[in-house]
Amino acid sequence: MLGDTAPFRIAGNLYFVGTHAKSSHVLATSRGLIMIDCGDDGTVDAILESLDTLGFSVKDVKIILLSHGHSDHSGGARRLRDLSGAEVYMGEDDLKYVGESELGSRFVPDRFLQDGDEIALGETVVSCLATPGHTEGTFSFFFDLVENGMTYRAGMFGGSGTEQLRKPYMNRPDRRVSYLMRGAFFKTLDRLEEEHVDIMIGNHTWQNDQDEKYKRMFESTENPFVDPTEWRKYLDRARKAMWKIIREEEKTEFVNYAHRGASDTRPENTMTAFYEGVALGANGIETDVQMTRDGVPVLFHDDTLLRVTGEPGSVGDYTLAELKKFTVKKDGMIDRIPTLEEFLAAFSWRKLTFAIELKGDGAEEKTADLIYRYGVDCKCVVTSFVLERLRRIRAIAPGLRTGWLKKDFADEDLDAMEAAGVDEVCPRAINVNAERVEEWHARGFNVRPWAVTDDDLMRSAVAAGVDGMTINFPDRLAALLNK
Ligand SMILES: [Zn+2]
Repeated sequence: MLGDTAPFRIAGNLYFVGTHAKSSHVLATSRGLIMIDCGDDGTVDAILESLDTLGFSVKDVKIILLSHGHSDHSGGARRLRDLSGAEVYMGEDDLKYVGESELGSRFVPDRFLQDGDEIALGETVVSCLATPGHTEGTFSFFFDLVENGMTYRAGMFGGSGTEQLRKPYMNRPDRRVSYLMRGAFFKTLDRLEEEHVDIMIGNHTWQNDQDEKYKRMFESTENPFVDPTEWRKYLDRARKAMWKIIREEEKTEFVNYAHRGASDTRPENTMTAFYEGVALGANGIETDVQMTRDGVPVLFHDDTLLRVTGEPGSVGDYTLAELKKFTVKKDGMIDRIPTLEEFLAAFSWRKLTFAIELKGDGAEEKTADLIYRYGVDCKCVVTSFVLERLRRIRAIAPGLRTGWLKKDFADEDLDAMEAAGVDEVCPRAINVNAERVEEWHARGFNVRPWAVTDDDLMRSAVAAGVDGMTINFPDRLAALLNK
């Protein structure tokens, strides 16, 4: 046997024909075979033998679907197309990888997959979902398998690997993977969670514990590949793996959040204050979201307008158009109340981390939507003093990081955070010391104090090992960190 894995029928008309390291599957239909992934050039020999063992001919292969453009899944496509006359379908955005692989630069697929494509052959229909992240043009495949009168939904996540989304890989000059792919990866996970999958297939055999299940196939009358819980668990593991990478990187980057912008010297929560914060050396911006009467998220801290604008009432009493007539004042300087969208349009693309505090109820959905729309979901934390708001934002957008603002944290608070999936402990700076930071870190929480009112508190928080802080004078913190 050329391959290291015997070919076999998984369920219904689905067969495994690949190797241990490089999965390849075929769906046998009345009109020929649909192949999903084909390993690299070296895998093709094993695939040919597998097809032969199962009684198929390579000429039966009519369509080859490629999950993504990395050569371990698509490198054999050219040779298989030559041998079979099949058509090769893949995502257009992955053409750049295929060009660099063994396929040679002249390889052109027969069709570019579009999101939602239904590829049909005989009675089999494969639904193709664009699921970028691992690569720009990754596609995932879903189809029904009928066995013993039961219909099972099978699914393959076309690119679940997170190694390609580590900084050193992304920054390689020959790769230049966009950091937006991390946000895309989380969006993909959100989307795939909505799919029901009874039978998960992998594009590497270890993804779906194939060897183990193959053994169990001979020990039981029940098909071990049928497991409706596996898909969600797998997506959850991928999400955690991605977060682990991001958090490890964050540990080396202390976040100096300009609190409401450079609010010591500029009108707070205005574009003037945000630009000044960046100019003073902040690598993060903290701000507050409230909803206008006509449902627009704007950046404003206080419950009432009086202190910073001199106007009566509160943000929710006015439409955006009315609020835009008011001025935010500080030491003779004036500016307007910005919308969250105006802020993100100006700052989302910069190398900044964002702490966005939900001041009232009802802003969760629009805030999450804008965070995703501007691609800052990987470099932002949504915070609140109200744990229930964090639960709501996690229900809407489970991929977003959250932080609980609280004067101090008792053990039961940490338990509640853990249960709610909250990521960041945000205590008053005065309640922070090295021992407690160590304890919070040991439980997996990020630590970011607030109310850093003077240089002594700033210095002691840095010495205690916090991961960042919100501060009104980011220039002094930047100077301390540079020392
Ligand atoms: Zn890959």
